Amino acid sequence: MQVPSIKTVSRGAALHGGPGTTAGSNKTFRVKCRAGSDTSHSVKEPILTSAHAPITILGAGLTGMSAAFHLRKAGVDCHVFERLPHVGGHAITLSEQGYKFDRTGHLLHLRDPSIRELCLSWIKGGVIEIDRQSRIYSHGVYTRYPFQANTFGLPADVAYACVTDFVRAHFAAEKPPISNFEDYCRAHFGNAISDAFMIPYNTKLWGVHPREISAAWCTRFVPLPRLEDVVAGAVGKNDRELGYNARFLYPRLGIGQLSEGLAQATGSVQCNTAPLAVHAAQRTVQFASGPVGYEALISTIPLPQLVALIQDAPDHVREAALRLKCTHLYYLDVALNTRPLLPYHWIYVPETRFPFYRVGAYSNFSDAMAPPNKGCLYVELADRSEPHLAELLPKVAQNLVEMGLIVEPHAIRFARLRRIDHAYVVFDNHYESSVETIQVYLQKMRIFSHGRYGAWNYSSMEDALLYGRDAAREAAKLIASNRSCDS
Ligand SMILES: Cc1cc2nc3c(=O)[nH]c(=O)nc-3n(C[C@H](O)[C@H](O)[C@H](O)COP(=O)(O)OP(=O)(O)OC[C@H]3O[C@@H](n4cnc5c(N)ncnc54)[C@H](O)[C@@H]3O)c2cc1C
Repeated sequence: MQVPSIKTVSRGAALHGGPGTTAGSNKTFRVKCRAGSDTSHSVKEPILTSAHAPITILGAGLTGMSAAFHLRKAGVDCHVFERLPHVGGHAITLSEQGYKFDRTGHLLHLRDPSIRELCLSWIKGGVIEIDRQSRIYSHGVYTRYPFQANTFGLPADVAYACVTDFVRAHFAAEKPPISNFEDYCRAHFGNAISDAFMIPYNTKLWGVHPREISAAWCTRFVPLPRLEDVVAGAVGKNDRELGYNARFLYPRLGIGQLSEGLAQATGSVQCNTAPLAVHAAQRTVQFASGPVGYEALISTIPLPQLVALIQDAPDHVREAALRLKCTHLYYLDVALNTRPLLPYHWIYVPETRFPFYRVGAYSNFSDAMAPPNKGCLYVELADRSEPHLAELLPKVAQNLVEMGLIVEPHAIRFARLRRIDHAYVVFDNHYESSVETIQVYLQKMRIFSHGRYGAWNYSSMEDALLYGRDAAREAAKLIASNRSCDS
């Protein structure tokens, strides 16, 4: 199989200190816990001997660990509590029989130079810089992404309808009223592009119909196609990958390497420890082993869960939290006896006849993700009800054969069904006011809720590392100003 253009740009440099060596790390922490991948070394798991640190952090995904890393680097003491036996949150790598699987595709797009430098120093085992090769599979053919700028290659009547409808929408003297994502697509992309890709794909991805997603969100996050891109794409003139993520970084041994390296640099985390309650007025978190006091709390756990834990949260805040929506997701880890027959990194699959909306190939990101001459895939399922793997797998295998990724169903060596409880926050019409109501209250109570699910948004791993850094700065500043007021 031909491997796409891949260039090794950097090998992990020396780590930023190991467990217990990071500035400001809590010397009372002692025993061990697992990092979030099977290539694991051990990181320290603490046993608390002190019931108070200036800052308590809930969750040891990238946001929580980044916050702890930056606090300790600045000499500020903090306790980190993680519900699971391992750190990393969504950014972990599982291994089985020599195959490695992330929690679906986790590619690094690092724009902030300081975060990039830190990531490269944390990741051991090498980082690969990759030119994206993504495709859309629909109408029995592969086309480039994004759909609206690459209709060349589709059946002629489909491409023709896409372009003419787009032109009609583009030059419409009056735009129809836009109150949701579906309206937005029809008004800006035209009906044919909306029906062939935007609406079916986004329904499968988000787990809700685009009419449930607010227009305000689209305006911020869905770029408008340019007429010249649509026309160029219809005649096959867009011969390169477009968009913000045309190039990405990937740790050679899986994304868990990032969490593992950050965990080493961060120091102690208390795993297997979830709070039972938070008393915001008293500034304590209640654990099974007793209360822990704090001056500031950084929470990276899902926002509705945090509010449910706060015993003295006012009713309007609780009600706002009940309005927050998020979809879960099932996906398959698939181990192959062969390399994938196509070199693509991932493929978007909008048509409803396929039970999945995206297939990615870890072994096309990095050879080291599978044994020699073997491959491994992730298959993200559209249906949110729990599938029966034995019934689903033959169908998926036939689909992969049709798509040309495997030659026959027996190329699948094994498959595992996985679930992500929190996948996509739903940006419905309650979203903005509910999040604001909650955050205003939390800030008053010295609680900083950050991260993809802590802040309740759609964000990346780089964002998580930045959120953690910002939370550390905010919390440290608050503590310093309180102390100067007290003295
Ligand atoms: C399907 C999918 C694909 C993605 N692909 C990409 C990608 O390609 N590139 C990219 O940059 N980003 C991607 N992301 C986003 C990325 O995974 C997140 O932005 C990032 O991992 C969020 O980190 P976090 O620390 O904020 O949250 P999490 O990773 O969710 O960490 C939160 C931590 O809190 C812990 N926790 C939860 N409840 C409690 C509790 N009660 N007490 C204590 N601890 C608790 C959890 O166990 C977890 O460890 C993807 C996300 C998903 C869902």
